[in-house]
Formats: sequence, structure tokens, C-alpha cells
Amino acid sequence: MASSKLNILLLYTGGTIGMVKDFKTGYLKTFNFKNLLDQIPELQQLDCNIETVATENPIDSSDMSPKYWVEIATLIEIHYHRFDGFVILHGSDTMSYTASALSFMLENLNKPVIFTGSQLPIGDLRTDAKENLITSIQVASLKQNGKPIVTEVCLYFEYKLYRANRTTKLNAENFQAFASFNYPPLAESGVHLKINNEHLFKPKSGENFKVNKRLDKNIALIKLFPGITQNVINSIFSTPHLKAVIIETYGAGNCSTKSWFLNLLKSAISQGIHIINITQCSAGSVIMGHYETSNTLKKIGVISGKDITTEAAVVKLMHLLGQHIPANTFKTNYEAAIRGEMQ
Ligand code: ASP
Repeated sequence: MASSKLNILLLYTGGTIGMVKDFKTGYLKTFNFKNLLDQIPELQQLDCNIETVATENPIDSSDMSPKYWVEIATLIEIHYHRFDGFVILHGSDTMSYTASALSFMLENLNKPVIFTGSQLPIGDLRTDAKENLITSIQVASLKQNGKPIVTEVCLYFEYKLYRANRTTKLNAENFQAFASFNYPPLAESGVHLKINNEHLFKPKSGENFKVNKRLDKNIALIKLFPGITQNVINSIFSTPHLKAVIIETYGAGNCSTKSWFLNLLKSAISQGIHIINITQCSAGSVIMGHYETSNTLKKIGVISGKDITTEAAVVKLMHLLGQHIPANTFKTNYEAAIRGEMQ
């Protein structure tokens, strides 16, 4: 690698960006990563060295699982010291989950890790892939006084750079596929690339980069709806090895005040199951105790997910359970922002 230029690692995990249409079936499926690069000769014009690596089995991201998160994190770990920045190509469907997971797994990160993908394959005439990819590489190459400007896991899509663990996929067909309702964009790309410095994550200095690979999947996610039955809730809570449940409640963290429901939560907590309250609303925060309907939750020890996204709530839970945090400090740990994922 030439010494004067920055070195960027492009990591391909699958997704529409690298898919082609199978002419027999008409379905989109993943294809060889090498062909992907042939489609973008523009990359040679960038002022950096780009090396590429792919996961063992690139997938449609709807098949994503913690096993792949560990594979991606391990690839970053292996190449961490040789590269100035990392761009991860990923399907948009579960990109917010993976990118949020990586934000927790990569501790004391002091280099940019930018997730991107596209709504149309890179070979498509009207593709959104080229702009997403080229600007992501530029963001991953940004430095000031020899130091990287971005030192966190981000998601870049359709002219906006977001803190990854604040994002959510909100549109299945629009090029503007992602939103970050509770946190402003970190950068916006127009004629100039405008960085919103005040919103960037400031890592602790002097701490060594470390990769947390233990994730515990013994969790459940319940979205409440008027009329949800006791049987459904009971069956979820009787799942063997269950350690924690995220409940998507209404508005500012409100739920039914029916005694069967509250008693069930109370008994689960007394058995050591952690319960996290997050809101079904796209924007805003859980404030337990604001309404009478959430006051009991507060009293029985339900954990507040505050303004966290569902995606970040799920992976933060897997991550913290994987850390084997003592039961009596789990609530405090969950309610504290670790990577800027909540207020
Ligand atoms: N199904 C695709 C995936 O998530 C969609 C995309 O890449 O946009 O892998």
C-alpha cells in the first residue's frame, strides 16, 4: 500500500447493492463481489487505496444473524491497524440492526466504520449505489490534523450520514430509505460535504480498541396492540432460557393497566427477567411515570429504553446480556448511553 494515500477497507456482506437479476426466475440474488467492483470504475479516481474483502457467504440481509455480526466484527478486528477507515456494504433491510450491533461490539473505536447499501443494484442504470458508495468512502477518508474526523459506526444513505444506532429503515422503495428521528444527521452531502461536528461521537482517548463478540439471543420483543391476549403474552414469557423482554408500548411508554398484564410483568421481574420499555412511536421518548398508565411499570422495576430505536434496543440487550452484568446493576447499565444510542 502506498504510504501517502489513506487506506480504506471495503467489506461486502451482501444486499441489493451487489445483486443481479436471475433471468430464469426473475429474482434478485447476490453475486460475485469482484463483479461489483468492475461496475464502478469511478472508484479508481478516489484519492485513497481501496482493498476489498467479503464475508464467507454474502447474503440478502433478511437472513442476517448475530453469527454474521461476529464475522463482520472479526474482519474489522483483523484489519483494524492496517486501514484508516472501513466501509461495509450491507443489505438495507436489516442494516440498522447490524450497524447498531457493531456500534456496541466495537469498543473504543477511533476510526470510521460506515455502513451503506442501495435500493437498486449497482448495475442498474438508475442505481443509487454509486453515490452511496463513493460518498461513504469519502467520509471514511476524512481526516483533520492527521486524525479521523468520524470515530463511530455510521450509516450513509441518500445524501445523509447518520449515527448507525439511531437509524431505522422507513421506506422499502424510496431512495431515502433510512431515518434518524431522535438524533440529527452527522453529515449532509450536497455540493459540499457538511459535517455537523457538534453531533459526532467523542471517543474516550487512550483506551485500547476492543471487540466484544459475546451476544446473548435469549430475548423477546413484544409489540403491544389493543386486544393482545393473555395467552400470547404468557407463551412468550414461558420461553425456555428467556433472560429479557423488550415491550413496545404506546406513546411515552404507556400500557394496559389490566391486572393480569401487570402481575405477569411483576412476577417475571421477580424471577430475574429484565423488561425494557420502548415506544412504538418513531420519534420521542419513554417517560415512565408521566402518565398513571406507566407509573406501575416504573414502580415494579421496568427498565426505560428512553428514546432508543427498536433495532438498537434489541442489540444493546444482546450485548449487555453477553457481558454477564450483575442483575442488580443491569437496569443502570441499560439506561445509560454507551455509544450515543439514547439521550
Ligand atoms: N433484501 C435486500 C437486503 O436487505 C434489500 C436491500 O439490500 O436493500 O439484503
